[in-house]
Amino acid sequence: MDVLQQRTLTNGGIVRAFEESFQEYTGGQAVAVSSCTAALHLACMMLFKPGDEVILPANAHLSAANAVELVGGTAVFCDVQRSTGNIDHKSVLSVISDKTRGIICVHYLGIPCEMGILRQICRENGLRLIEDCALALGTHFDGRHVGLWGDIGTFSFYPTKHITTMEGGMLLTSNMDIAEEARSLRRFGQMERYGDIQRPGLNYRMTEAQAAIGIEQMKRLPAFLRQRLLNMDQIGRGLADFERVGGSYAVSIFPRIPTADLRRRMVRDEFIEASVYYPRPLPRLAYYKRKARQYLPEFSNADAFSEESICLPVGPHLKAEHINHMIEGFRRCVSHSSVARAS
Ligand SMILES: *Cc1c(COP(=O)(O)O)cnc(C)c1O
Repeated sequence: MDVLQQRTLTNGGIVRAFEESFQEYTGGQAVAVSSCTAALHLACMMLFKPGDEVILPANAHLSAANAVELVGGTAVFCDVQRSTGNIDHKSVLSVISDKTRGIICVHYLGIPCEMGILRQICRENGLRLIEDCALALGTHFDGRHVGLWGDIGTFSFYPTKHITTMEGGMLLTSNMDIAEEARSLRRFGQMERYGDIQRPGLNYRMTEAQAAIGIEQMKRLPAFLRQRLLNMDQIGRGLADFERVGGSYAVSIFPRIPTADLRRRMVRDEFIEASVYYPRPLPRLAYYKRKARQYLPEFSNADAFSEESICLPVGPHLKAEHINHMIEGFRRCVSHSSVARAS
């Protein structure tokens, strides 16, 4: 209400206050933007130029690959590890070419990528590194918050993520120059109102009302995370006999039967919001299929995540009895589907 009753509806300092609380939590420089997609676009504008190749996992979010293409680069896909859903280092090395300029890694379901190895690959090949942390707020690797291992980290505050501002995102970096350039690029390229510009930017600002929600959400984040991790552990114990990949965002399970039918059955019969991250690996989409033909066509683990796994939510609105229902409902649906297949 304070935001709506301010004399000016914009530039009132609330966005800055949200950035400060994000900085305090993560330890980097934070630049609030209108979405994670906006943060990824700005990141690619700052780190890459037309003709550059950027490697990313086949099961990334569409917005990461699109960001590369929108700055004139080429998204080159690699496979992921079956055990985590994160970028596979051998697969990265197999697609590096003399045009490769960067890597975008995704911390799948909130599980940190192995940042030491990725940083070494980047160092040895002269590559920039973006971490897509949209599913990984609160995730640390080796004591440092994700998003601060590479050049830039990007976060989403879409309603399904760890905290929400309804729509919104954050660009995180430990590099002051990058933070300053991002601040100007989110505002047409200007550092101040009516100021001069060095290059054209966009309007990717977050609103004061969104930031006010964000400030309150940050206060609740520790409790959200505690509940998420409890829920993840409960699913892990309840479905210990299944192959699983779990993080603070969701738990991905391999039920050994086709998951498209299973997912429909879970939603229809058990009211369980089961999903798949992601239903189609990016190189399987028409645009990227055409472009990616010249690169390694093997994404067997990314394909397995899309065709053979199913994700259960762990959001903090779910309490122990809901998780129990999900575990039992999942088992009922798996045995139904197995019986249907056998007959
Ligand atoms: C949600 C998500 C995005 C996109 O976030 P928006 O804020 O909706 O633009 C990007 N990457 C990953 C990994 C995501 O989960």
